[in-house]
Amino acid sequence: MTISPLMPVYPRCGVRPVRGEGCYLYGEDGAKYLDFAAGIAVNALGHGHPALTEAITRQAATLMHVSNLYGSPQQERFAQRLVDATFADTVFFTNSGAEAVECAIKTARRYHYASGAPERNTLITFDTAFHGRTLGAISATNQAKMRDGFEPLLPGFKYATFNDLDGALALIDGATAGFLVEPIQGEGGIRVATREFLQGLRRACDEHGLLLVLDEVQAGYGRTGKFFAHELYGITPDIMAAAKGIGGGFPLGACLATENAAKGMVAGTHGSTYGGNPLAMAAGEAVLDVILADGFLENVDAMGMRLRGSLEQMIPNHDHLFESVRGHGLMLGLKLKSDSRRFVAHCRDNHGLLLVAAGENVVRILPPLVIDDTHVTECVERLSEAARVYVPVSDD
Ligand SMILES: *Cc1c(COP(=O)(O)O)cnc(C)c1O
Repeated sequence: MTISPLMPVYPRCGVRPVRGEGCYLYGEDGAKYLDFAAGIAVNALGHGHPALTEAITRQAATLMHVSNLYGSPQQERFAQRLVDATFADTVFFTNSGAEAVECAIKTARRYHYASGAPERNTLITFDTAFHGRTLGAISATNQAKMRDGFEPLLPGFKYATFNDLDGALALIDGATAGFLVEPIQGEGGIRVATREFLQGLRRACDEHGLLLVLDEVQAGYGRTGKFFAHELYGITPDIMAAAKGIGGGFPLGACLATENAAKGMVAGTHGSTYGGNPLAMAAGEAVLDVILADGFLENVDAMGMRLRGSLEQMIPNHDHLFESVRGHGLMLGLKLKSDSRRFVAHCRDNHGLLLVAAGENVVRILPPLVIDDTHVTECVERLSEAARVYVPVSDD
């Protein structure tokens, strides 16, 4: 037998973290890393945040799990707080981003079914999108690397070009349910939707009775300096998937919707054994307390501007390697002129700096949202030093 006991679906690197503290991770061998990957935008409060740790510890000892067959004061309270803070009227809790996307897809289809138009079952999605790894979520992207060998996929998706409004509108027909889109594509390479594009999709939904479904699993929950990224665009969705930062590291996701968009989701239509259990709700509330506290999002915005400014200043010194910076708040992408995966490995292995590669040769910079000036300075110093000694390989 040659297969490892752990199914080898991840090309895992040599970093083997065993402890985290604030914005730092410590490896099995004692190595210390500045963590500007944050579990891919998950550890919004960094590692070992006392409020989150204490909330989980207390709740674990009080009540960890009960079935969704029973009333849940914990879910009702957290859902009410999310409703109060967003466009949404109602929330379904999941354990992951893909499940939140699944719920969003089902909610959109069921809306048209309940409206007497079950033939409107097709969502228009976008190239280089990432919505997760379930069969529904991989059906919602046209990225071959995620789809190959898993056919037959779920019917009911069409693919348009991100930021091409006319191309997307041209796909609307009698079978269209709506659009599913990330306001800022994460895995795709920190590709930021233009104002014209997102506002145009919103307008088309209003004109044609379609649903705008946003995947804010990565861009949402304070990452961009707004609670949700669509606030940057002056629009609201009908349905939205959230996850990653929402639990600060505890597995939690949510599908949020307006009352109208959720009209098909009546008793018996959807469910989850674990989704929204009291332990997850305690984690979610602890994170929300911090994120919605006075000044928190303003600090994300300020740190994002400082980091972006420092990165932009650094680029001319290493213009054989770096091209540009994009993104919002603390969801930033540094576009390289050569392979970003190789540079991310170099930063990690030789400079103690954790970043994440993404599409279009972009290095994603996704620090904990609790960083201060010293972390920004340290990141840029390590990046500059990494760039100074780096020899890019073309066509790597
Ligand atoms: C990470 C991600 C998902 C999938 O989340 P999982 O928790 O891995 O299922 C979906 N959409 C976007 C935009 C993501 O970044």
